[in-house]
Amino acid sequence: MKTVLIIDDDADCRRVLAAVLNQNGWQVFHAGNGDEGIELARQHRPNVVLCDLLMPRVNGFKVCVELRADNSLRHTGIVVTSGRNFDADRRAALEAGADDFLPKPVQPVELVAALARFDTNNIPPAPEKPLEVPTRISGTPRLKFWGVRGSTPAPGPDTVKYGGNTSCIEIRAKGELIILDAGTGLRLLGRQLAEEFKDQPLHLTLLLTHTHWDHIQGLPFFQPIYEPQNRIRILGYEGARHGLTNVLSSQMENPFFPITLRELPANLQIEELKEMKFTIGRVRIEACFANHPGICVGYRLFTGEASIAYFPDNEPQFMANGTDPKAALEYSQGQDRRMVAFLRGADILIMDAQYDRTEYEQHKGWGHGCLDDVVALALKAEVKKLFLFHHDPDHDDKKIAEMTDYARHLVKAQNGKLQVEAAREGLALELSGVGQTVR
Ligand SMILES: [Zn+2]
Ligand SMILES: [Zn+2]
Repeated sequence: MKTVLIIDDDADCRRVLAAVLNQNGWQVFHAGNGDEGIELARQHRPNVVLCDLLMPRVNGFKVCVELRADNSLRHTGIVVTSGRNFDADRRAALEAGADDFLPKPVQPVELVAALARFDTNNIPPAPEKPLEVPTRISGTPRLKFWGVRGSTPAPGPDTVKYGGNTSCIEIRAKGELIILDAGTGLRLLGRQLAEEFKDQPLHLTLLLTHTHWDHIQGLPFFQPIYEPQNRIRILGYEGARHGLTNVLSSQMENPFFPITLRELPANLQIEELKEMKFTIGRVRIEACFANHPGICVGYRLFTGEASIAYFPDNEPQFMANGTDPKAALEYSQGQDRRMVAFLRGADILIMDAQYDRTEYEQHKGWGHGCLDDVVALALKAEVKKLFLFHHDPDHDDKKIAEMTDYARHLVKAQNGKLQVEAAREGLALELSGVGQTVR
């Protein structure tokens, strides 16, 4: 049965619209204000919501924004109605998430035509309880790099060895498939998963550090999101000004991409993390804010076989400002200690080492790491193996190899035991024998 929810503070208007829609086979729910409408939408998950714009308290724009922030309503259409036929209102309603805009008085023929496109919406049944990710991944626990580049993809003959795709790492451990970041490397991983799992339902978790382009742009090209049998959880922290769902859907909006996030066939569950310690199945995870613009974190995953710290975007040199230089210095030192404590004893550290020392002088305060500082930090935290990551798009293979040699030289000069490697696309490690490259 096709269902519509009418939200309008004008009872007469609701009655007229409902009569027309009833005659055309729609089951109609009513709400007299925005709050009630949002609640009923969540309860009934109708094919379409027909919402008035000018209502006291919660107006139609707010209703659109609220409904669009709710991932469980991503299949529900929204048509806004208004007694004021301003082009600016129409544009604002569409920007707020509406699919269409109808000026009042709405003619019955127009109404039926406008809603017709939603009567085929296939609304999947609501999940009875929050989705758990079942343990379906078997095999040797491992980590594989699918994208190692920072800022923007850098394909070409000079980046063949380390690769040009942006941040994406796959971890298989304790029956879980966990993907760290959705940079352009995610496309290659998606292709591999589609081939490996074929028609089998795939259950995985995508863990985002932040929503800069180089960490989310692979998502629209990730094959598993186009298969309805797949369950994909996306976890991350709220963006600086917008919710996570909003940020991820906006990169797939009309001018940028032909398919919206709401139209994706896979069962997508986007969750904003509130706590800094949580678990994915039996993998324990801790998060720590990175020194990077906006809301950006690093993660430490405890898989049992190994502990892996991942800070794709981070500037180890913390520069606190303030009128009191002593207080600023103390604050910076406190931040250093906090980071060292977070990384202490990690088996694997994957860290932003975008600049060499000379380049860093020009990029202080950009939120990316200087190689010397990254090595010093890894040594201080007694990390076992360091992967230089988030390679600068302007660094060719030769430059990255030189930086890796230089980092090893720094370790040697301090009699350190730290192993250093540059992260490279396609590099896979067995977690139980950290340091052994399997492929
Ligand atoms: Zn980045
Ligand atoms: Zn970033």
